[in-house]
Amino acid sequence: MIAAALSSALGAGLFGGPWAGTVPIVAIAGFVSAVSVFVYHQMISSRDQRIKDSPEEADLLKSVADHSPSMIYLKDGDSRVLMINKRYQEFYGISQDKAFGSQGHAWLGEENAERLIEQDLAVIASGEVREQQFDFVDPHGVERRINSIKFPVSDSAGNAIGVGGISTDITEQMEAEKSLRSSEERYRRLFELSPDAAYVHVDDRIVFVNPSAVKLFHAKSSAEMLGRLASSLYHPDGLATLEQARKDRLETGINRSSLIDFRFRCLDGAEFEGQAAGTLIEWDGQPALMAIVRDQSDQILVERAMRQSEEHYRELVSRTHAAMTVHNGEEIIYANQAAVELYGANDVEELIGLHPSDLIHPDYHADAEERRKVVKDLRERSPTVEQTRLRLDGTEIITEANGIPVTWNGQPSVLVETWDITSRKRAEIELIQAKEDAELANRTKSEFLTNMSHELRTPLNAVIGFSEIMRNPLDGSIDPEAYGEYANNVHQSGVHLLELINDILDISKIEAGKFELNEEVFEPDATIAVCLRLIKERAIENAVELDVEVDGHLPRIRADERKVKQILLNLLSNAVKFTPEGGRVSVRARADSKAGLVISVQDTGIGIARDDIPKVLSAFVQVDSALTRQFQGTGLGLPLAKSLAELHGGTLELESEIGAGTVVTMSLPPDRLLA
Ligand code: ATP
Ligand code: MG
Repeated sequence: MIAAALSSALGAGLFGGPWAGTVPIVAIAGFVSAVSVFVYHQMISSRDQRIKDSPEEADLLKSVADHSPSMIYLKDGDSRVLMINKRYQEFYGISQDKAFGSQGHAWLGEENAERLIEQDLAVIASGEVREQQFDFVDPHGVERRINSIKFPVSDSAGNAIGVGGISTDITEQMEAEKSLRSSEERYRRLFELSPDAAYVHVDDRIVFVNPSAVKLFHAKSSAEMLGRLASSLYHPDGLATLEQARKDRLETGINRSSLIDFRFRCLDGAEFEGQAAGTLIEWDGQPALMAIVRDQSDQILVERAMRQSEEHYRELVSRTHAAMTVHNGEEIIYANQAAVELYGANDVEELIGLHPSDLIHPDYHADAEERRKVVKDLRERSPTVEQTRLRLDGTEIITEANGIPVTWNGQPSVLVETWDITSRKRAEIELIQAKEDAELANRTKSEFLTNMSHELRTPLNAVIGFSEIMRNPLDGSIDPEAYGEYANNVHQSGVHLLELINDILDISKIEAGKFELNEEVFEPDATIAVCLRLIKERAIENAVELDVEVDGHLPRIRADERKVKQILLNLLSNAVKFTPEGGRVSVRARADSKAGLVISVQDTGIGIARDDIPKVLSAFVQVDSALTRQFQGTGLGLPLAKSLAELHGGTLELESEIGAGTVVTMSLPPDRLLA
């Protein structure tokens, strides 16, 4: 019978596992009850000599009871101690022998003794299991709380004959609960003081609200909010988000949601924009959710206004005609349409991500130290500077640019405004050039007039002077030889004047676009020969050697012969005029179907400075008036020769170096050559 009671009470596996405090109390109670029944019966039988059951099983059970971490006891129907286990003896500091037969349990303290006897008797009388707690000061003076489960012990006939019990020291557990309560209390206080609204709900029913929540949701008191559905505080639009947050918490196992934007609804129907975060907590032993809500209305308004002003700003920037780019010191993060056009990009994307220096000519690069400092330190619009910038195809543009500090997507950045001033700059340069040209022209015209009056006056004076003498001879008669000489002087001066006036007329006509060529077909060899003959005498006079080299027989050409002669004579007379004694003047001529007719006049004379070459080729310019004054001339020859060559569709080129001589080459186009 005992074996049967024992096995049913112990349940399968109880002996298999370690005998530890984690075993459920009911199992312990059941087991202890079985042990006690057995031990009790043993005691009785040893006293009555009635039961002679297996002594091995009794030893085994006693050993089990002695290894229990709980206090186990067994008393008879009068609440007298029959047996206490080892743990009991240690805990209360009483031995089995001393305790045996005693009633009232003096070791538990007087105030407990009576109550415990009463309870023992009540369990025996009722036949029911009872649980109770009592406080006890242990032998070390430490106050302890004991939890005791008492159960009736009955004989084989079912009559209650005693009481068994199992006691555990729950002091620590109590303390943990107490501190938990006090920490809960602390949190509660904290939330009461919090400026953020907080409320706790169990199954959507609000069970706690702090004063900030009462205020935020326009409630009159916390009582008005308690018991309400938490979901009623949200605008219906946000309920799906709320549900999603709940699901996320379940799925991810992360017991805390980040701040989520919601529209909230107050008790009086007013609404506001806020952010909420939820966390799962235990509230009075039940799973609950605590929500913290923050009113964002003001911040949202500010943000919205900022977004709006940023949008307006962007809109403005995108529409302006000035090219605008924004960079953060490292790369371009924004460009408007005007910038796309300025830099010759296909679209905005082509500019985004470029280094700011990619668009600036290396001469104008700020070094990377410098640039970062600008981005960091720029407080106001920088002064406008002129910069040469580069289009994406590498071409240069002259620009004016300035930088404005901006915050772009939250980063400190620089908005660069750029204007293309290339055409303005070019116009400026052209204007300056035109002004200089005009000044030069003005100066040269005055010089020309002074020069010209001298040139005109000399032959006119000769004409007037000689004709005067011829008309009124000083001594009444002129000898015929002198008369002939005077007449010759008058004639020469007249011819010179005519030539001069013809030149001036030609140049004026050419400048007015009124000059017409008198074209005819002639042999250039013959023309060259005539010119050489005409100049020969002057060359001899100046002790300048004259040679000519014609490449084979030149074809006939169609041109204004008089003008071609005029060109050649001018080049030859210049060469002879500006070549000192002992020098040489060479004429070379050739013709081919590619180059046309090419005649060059080369000398070993004084030469012309490089800078002066363009000047001597333009009308009315004479190089170094002082020097030129040594030589006769008006400075009309070369420009007239050039214009005449060009009127034929040809060119006149001059190469010269001071002291090394000059070569002037006239070319007439191939279409003027006849077979
Ligand atoms: P004009 O030809 O009207 O009588 P000019 O000879 O001075 O006068 P250009 O033939 O137009 O005028 O020449 C202009 C200037 O160019 C000359 O005054 C001279 O300074 C320079 N020049 C022209 N040809 C030569 C040359 N072969 N060697 C050195 N200087 C030259
Ligand atoms: Mg000349």
